[in-house]
Amino acid sequence: MSRPLSDQERRKQISIRGIVGAESVAELKRGFNRHLHFTLVKDRNVATPRDYYFALAHTVRDHLVGRWIRTQQYYYEKDPKRIYYLSLEFYMGRTLQNTMINLGLQNACDEAVYQLGLDMEELEEIEEDAGLGNGGLGRLAACFLDSMATLGLAAYGYGIRYEYGIFNQKIRDGWQVEEADDWLRHGNPWEKARPEYMLPVHFYGRVEHSASGAKWIDTQVVLALPYDTPVPGYMNNTVNTMRLWSARAPNDFNLRDFNVGDYIQAVLDRNLAENISRVLYPNDNFFEGKELRLKQEYFVVAATLQDIIRRFKASKFGSTDSVRTVFDSFPDQVAIQLNDTHPAMAIPELMRIFVDIEKLPWDKAWDITRRTFAYTNHTVLPEALERWPVDLVEKLLPRHLQIIYEINQRHLDHIASLFPNDVDRLRRMSLIEEGDTKRINMAHLCIVGSHAVNGVAKIHSEIVKTQVFEDFAELEPEKFQNKTNGITPRRWLLLCNPGLAELIAEFVDDDLFIREVAKVKQENKVKFALYLEKEYKVKINPSSMFDVHVKRIHEYKRQLMNCLHIITMYNRIRRDPSKLFVPRTVIIGGKAAPGYHMAKMIIKLINAVAQVVNNDPMVGSKLKVIFLENYRVSLAEKGTLGGTCCGEGVSLNPMVLQQETNPKLLTTSSSCLCVLLAVIPATDLSEQISTAGTEASGTGNMKFMLNGALTIGTMDGANVEMAEEAGEENLFIFGMRVEDVTELDKKGYNAQLYYDRLPELKQAVDQIKSGFFSPKEPNLFNDVVNMLFHHDR
Ligand SMILES: *Cc1c(COP(=O)(O)O)cnc(C)c1O
Repeated sequence: MSRPLSDQERRKQISIRGIVGAESVAELKRGFNRHLHFTLVKDRNVATPRDYYFALAHTVRDHLVGRWIRTQQYYYEKDPKRIYYLSLEFYMGRTLQNTMINLGLQNACDEAVYQLGLDMEELEEIEEDAGLGNGGLGRLAACFLDSMATLGLAAYGYGIRYEYGIFNQKIRDGWQVEEADDWLRHGNPWEKARPEYMLPVHFYGRVEHSASGAKWIDTQVVLALPYDTPVPGYMNNTVNTMRLWSARAPNDFNLRDFNVGDYIQAVLDRNLAENISRVLYPNDNFFEGKELRLKQEYFVVAATLQDIIRRFKASKFGSTDSVRTVFDSFPDQVAIQLNDTHPAMAIPELMRIFVDIEKLPWDKAWDITRRTFAYTNHTVLPEALERWPVDLVEKLLPRHLQIIYEINQRHLDHIASLFPNDVDRLRRMSLIEEGDTKRINMAHLCIVGSHAVNGVAKIHSEIVKTQVFEDFAELEPEKFQNKTNGITPRRWLLLCNPGLAELIAEFVDDDLFIREVAKVKQENKVKFALYLEKEYKVKINPSSMFDVHVKRIHEYKRQLMNCLHIITMYNRIRRDPSKLFVPRTVIIGGKAAPGYHMAKMIIKLINAVAQVVNNDPMVGSKLKVIFLENYRVSLAEKGTLGGTCCGEGVSLNPMVLQQETNPKLLTTSSSCLCVLLAVIPATDLSEQISTAGTEASGTGNMKFMLNGALTIGTMDGANVEMAEEAGEENLFIFGMRVEDVTELDKKGYNAQLYYDRLPELKQAVDQIKSGFFSPKEPNLFNDVVNMLFHHDR
């Protein structure tokens, strides 16, 4: 593998979008035509736009293959320390443009596609999002893979190849309706199945103890079939691997036991095993203790650890003669990062492998295990912390429960020796919680089984250390760290806002720079306004302030507070229509977990308020409210008008666009008005308004700031560092600090006092309560109002 480029060499690259040589363009066109013919089996008379997308994707993929093989070969020869990022979610979004950017192929591909008489943006729009995540946690995993490949680290992402990713959100009559995300329907050109590396995963069964140790027997086996996706670094010839497991039933599945003689039924029942990788659980920051979810968590862990150990044993470190010492170097060669507690069963699973299979003594196995694992905490919300019922774990993974008990016994013995007669401390620090149902506290298991524990922003790591896991930090303070989240500037600037990226790269002088930044922003806003007008049939003022609040819908993220503010602005306009008002377009978007009633009511309320505000002639163009449907990675960064390019046309006169923005925009694109758009690059005001102490980091906050939006926010998550870096005078910081929240919590919060004291708040709440926004169903929002008064956290 060639050596990564130095910064200086990188700057010598003529353009951030890659060099265009006639040679490379001709080569790309040849590749495209070859794939159209041999891979898609089409000619240009019958090829559909999707065929063209696939031909292009395969052509770009061809440029990854050599680098991918060489990178893996290089790792095999050099045996660098491997980093394994274990995650139940990888929210990758689209792959085509990111790949072209990281390979420096973007301009050449643009030219090739143009010469072929096709439209690049139209082809890009055909790609399905890989929506294998809920929100920030899954997107962080995706950004880390990009980052680690760009740093040239020998890193692997390991997860599940869900057949259905995060649901598609439809808004019908103001209500959220879920639709299955059948993202693999047309095939996935970026993955390669590797059936030759298929591995067995065991469930259920029982444990037999004998002189030679414990044996887990009479299990049911499910096969884990790996699919590999290349992860290219930015302009450095590194291509890492994301390996996602798919569940397959063994061929003798159910043919031996209860379906003996019923061959047809046995084949039909293969679904039971294969359901493990069927669908992503759509909860963000919420624990739902379902058996199938626990199966998913163990499935990825068991398959991945076998893979890791196979790779270690194949290395020069793993092939020493002595069975006794072979794993001594394991923690120097292998780092396993747990993305939240979701893959926590990896800790007892590695212990099981070491003790039961490799026959290491417990203490040695435990030492190696702890030095291998590190755990990232993503939330302190109690309802999000995983606490699996002991009964469920005992049924599904009986040997692992025994191992967890053994870990706990030794852990508590150690605490008891340090703090004699402190029974309450033992109870607080136990991995097992007693109560109506006995549960395993997975965060405690992760802390005890890791050498490093990190929060994801300064304030969050502080809360982890001083509040939620205080006893553990007192015991091992050096274990607790902070790693503030980040985002990849490739996808979240270069890809999603090329105008701004180019401008920054040009280093214009300050005054001009600011004006040019405003111009790029205005172009992005006009594009987005066009989309909104067409999609939501609402007249948008492109010079109004675009006030954007997009993220998963959650009470702690306070979309409801934003809604109260909208109602307040609406009432102010109506009270004094002649008063100066900065025109605003408020855009709220995000998915609610399908079982989260209050979040769904909040979506309905926002849509109901939008209905009233947008149709009130007294308001006119001063205030508009849009609930943005189906917020996802590709809508954050890029998408097209309505999803269907061309054919429908746009209701707006193209002259409007030409007047409002750089005419270049229209002439470079074809006559088609279906320009690619993005919400983040079009935002003026970024809403980051969670209750202090509840948002671990947030990454949306960073994407907006990187794209030149101002932030209104609370001192929560990474907003704190953003304020520190940019200067607090450059953000709109408001609201209670985390100390104030704690204090108010102690004192007791009484909503009625605020309602009685603030007439504008009272008016807004009364309107919701009286059916002002739901005249046909005046009691529709009773639950919301009731929550505001009696259990608003
Ligand atoms: C970045 C991102 C998130 C996380 O947003 P927060 O504001 O940090 O909650 C969620 N969804 C998508 C699609 C994202 O790109």
